[in-house]
Amino acid sequence: MRKSHLIKPVLGNDYPVISHGKGIYLYDKEGKQYIDGSSGAITANIGHGVQEIAEALWNQAKHVSFVYRSQFTSDAAEMLAEKLAEYAPDELKSVFFVNSGSEATETALKIAIQYFQEQGVFTKTKVLSRWTSYHGITLGALSMSGHQLRRQRFNSLLEDFPVAPAPYCYQCPLKDSYPGCGVRCADELENIVQAIGAEQIAAFIVEPVIGASGGAIVPPDEYYSKIRAICDKYDILMIADEVMTGMGRTGKMFAMEHWGVIPDIIALGKGMSAGYTPMAATIVSDKIMNTIESGSKVVMSGHTFSANPQSAAACLAVLHYIERNNLQENAALMGDYLQNHLQRLQWKYSLIGDVRGKGLLCGLELIKDPMTREPFELSNKITDRLLSICFEKGLLVYPAVGGVTGFSGDSILISPPLTVTKEQINDIIDILDQSIGELTNQLISEGLY
Ligand code: PMP
Repeated sequence: MRKSHLIKPVLGNDYPVISHGKGIYLYDKEGKQYIDGSSGAITANIGHGVQEIAEALWNQAKHVSFVYRSQFTSDAAEMLAEKLAEYAPDELKSVFFVNSGSEATETALKIAIQYFQEQGVFTKTKVLSRWTSYHGITLGALSMSGHQLRRQRFNSLLEDFPVAPAPYCYQCPLKDSYPGCGVRCADELENIVQAIGAEQIAAFIVEPVIGASGGAIVPPDEYYSKIRAICDKYDILMIADEVMTGMGRTGKMFAMEHWGVIPDIIALGKGMSAGYTPMAATIVSDKIMNTIESGSKVVMSGHTFSANPQSAAACLAVLHYIERNNLQENAALMGDYLQNHLQRLQWKYSLIGDVRGKGLLCGLELIKDPMTREPFELSNKITDRLLSICFEKGLLVYPAVGGVTGFSGDSILISPPLTVTKEQINDIIDILDQSIGELTNQLISEGLY
């Protein structure tokens, strides 16, 4: 007899059953409290158990929960698209709804290829990306992901899209150092485009701040304007994967705003619904939409649940909540506070090689030797061990491991809901302090450190 019929991420592991959540806290059925220091998977951006979102869901459900997008539209979906277009840069005003971040990036890939086909160009079918990146788990999205651990089992089914080095200064893939390098990692894209041939490349996709595969890696300030210029020069679309960074997480509505660079397509997910419903979106520029409108008129993608009215109503309520409570401003302020405290931990523990991030997308990189920046062997599972110690003590943090062996080592993300207060951050830091101390002692006693 099976104990459970639900397939869990690691078979055989025991996962506590959550009974409810409130704000930054989750409670399991045994009564244990967890601080949601990672907003789940950087998703629960407005915290748990917000009454008005439940009401928005109910109010929509009372009228109609589902309509099929080929037959009808709904006020909720129209209003949500309008709201997202309002936040987006002037050039991006059209929204395609999907149900997950993977679908949002994969839709971006398809729209980019279609854009060129509408102009009679059928060779531009590659969407380049960077090593140390994650754009989703479906085959198209995984093809664009430079996340070796997640790729390896399906490599034979995937396109070899990732090519460019990540702007990862702490462990520079080009073995150079900023600012002397002149941000060579961006120039490298041009060399690659020339080697492959621009006539084959539809788009270049980037996470503005690298999340799941590297732990809040922020590029040098000049990087994105250089990338934008290369894309323009070779008629390549730029896709910003803001699935993790979007909707205020980094202190701005879209992280790309930090660098004043406007992409052609934006992918959104996670924080857009803050986890209250599965919902994601692809926002597309007028240049692309005008081309499709004067061509086939049909965006060749879509899902049964795309533009679901009930999900749209929940997302609208989430966006109003973010706006009314100035959560992006709080993310900027609390992000600085959190990073300052993480830096204090870095002075205390040489296990912490790097502290980085933007707003409330903060990362720590754990390192074997702070002088040489030598990472631990991935088989030592340092990140997993830290996660377990934190979990035991009632703190949730997110593992960000699995870029490229040899380049990216052990990292965690500390990304609480955008509602977090200074007092709550102090509690997070206290538990991290104890946990990193405990891990350091364990590693020393095992001769690993
Ligand atoms: N893009 C980025 C930047 C992500 O962080 C993620 C999820 N970690 C995805 C895409 C995929 O989103 P989902 O898991 O909702 O499919």
